[in-house]
Amino acid sequence: MIVAGWLMLPDPHQGVCLKRGFLTVEHGVIRSVELGEEIFMADMGGAGTIVCPGFVDAHMHLPQVPVIGADGLGLLQWLERVVYPAEASWADPDMAAEATDHAVRTLCSFGTTAFAAYATVHFDAAKAAMRAAAEVGVRALIGQVLMDRNAPDELVRPAAQLLQEAAKHDQIGRVRPAVSPRFAVSCTPELLAGAGKIAAMTGQFVQTHLSETRDECAKVRELFDGLSYTEVYARAGLLRRRCVLGHGICLDDEERKTIGVSGAAIAHCPTANAFLGAGMMDLRRNVEAKIRPAPGSDIGAGPDRSMVRVARAMLDVARLRGDIAPPASHAWWSITGGNASVLGFDDAGQIEQGRSADLLLIEPDIELELGEDEPSIDPLGALLYAWDDRWLKRTLVHGKTVYASL
Ligand SMILES: [Zn+2]
Repeated sequence: MIVAGWLMLPDPHQGVCLKRGFLTVEHGVIRSVELGEEIFMADMGGAGTIVCPGFVDAHMHLPQVPVIGADGLGLLQWLERVVYPAEASWADPDMAAEATDHAVRTLCSFGTTAFAAYATVHFDAAKAAMRAAAEVGVRALIGQVLMDRNAPDELVRPAAQLLQEAAKHDQIGRVRPAVSPRFAVSCTPELLAGAGKIAAMTGQFVQTHLSETRDECAKVRELFDGLSYTEVYARAGLLRRRCVLGHGICLDDEERKTIGVSGAAIAHCPTANAFLGAGMMDLRRNVEAKIRPAPGSDIGAGPDRSMVRVARAMLDVARLRGDIAPPASHAWWSITGGNASVLGFDDAGQIEQGRSADLLLIEPDIELELGEDEPSIDPLGALLYAWDDRWLKRTLVHGKTVYASL
């Protein structure tokens, strides 16, 4: 199969760039990338098409897709009233499989073909979710949520049981398990330490939430003898390079230093932070502390399913804080190759020979000054800020169409 158009390719200086060319796909894999050539035999795409790698979402919750938009609550009340009841329905693994299939296909229709997600506390449901996502073919990390306190009875389990179950999950297709203690409030020190040991033993990714709101941070200090939120995770051995921490809004410089040295990334979820009134992450300080930022939708606290709008919100937040926002080309890199690199997805996130053909065919209805040496408006900026989901005409996962607009 030949796909032609303006290819969004990695660029060592700008993050990404757009270059005219085409790529060949065989058995779901990109076999070659050719630049600068006119091609008349393309099976897909053409002169007005932008061919982009599928988007990568660094933080979302599969069971929360149906409860997006529950307005007017702070984090802890929202968990109690909206999220926990939704997650309780995953006691039925068939329900989990069906919900995951729907959620993953929805994400693909917004261009997301790879993600790191939380399932629920149920072992069978987490497994069913991994299987359902693998059947669609997407690249993902999916974790059984670990909680042994401060949640409704039907959603907590003894630490020993959870740790035994978490260690049993295996890769299914392109989906890998992730060690996923929800957040320090709902985990005892024993559970967190056990999670750290599983990560060290198995090499599995760790995902958890960190310092999202002030109430939550106060609760953590109360539960863990006055330790900082970051220190709680550091002592449990959870901070490592293969670790993504959701939010990191209320961090002090000491905590930032600890995270930066550990190599852990922070999932930056600006749309979710705005929705729950959590605050604005300090991208500049985090980057100065060498913390890798990884944009995440945080569905369902995040009301937006489009990673392009999450990326745009990331730049908006930087500007609202009074900082200079990174250029749009970096934002495009963040939601493709950057997030893939953070999540260890070496077969996704980039148009490159040998990677999976997870591709988006985009046809903007605005004029972009493509191919100009000095455009008056940066095409990647226009593409980001004027983004319209209707431009996404087709989503391919491993070379197969999983979404096509009418
Ligand atoms: Zn979250």
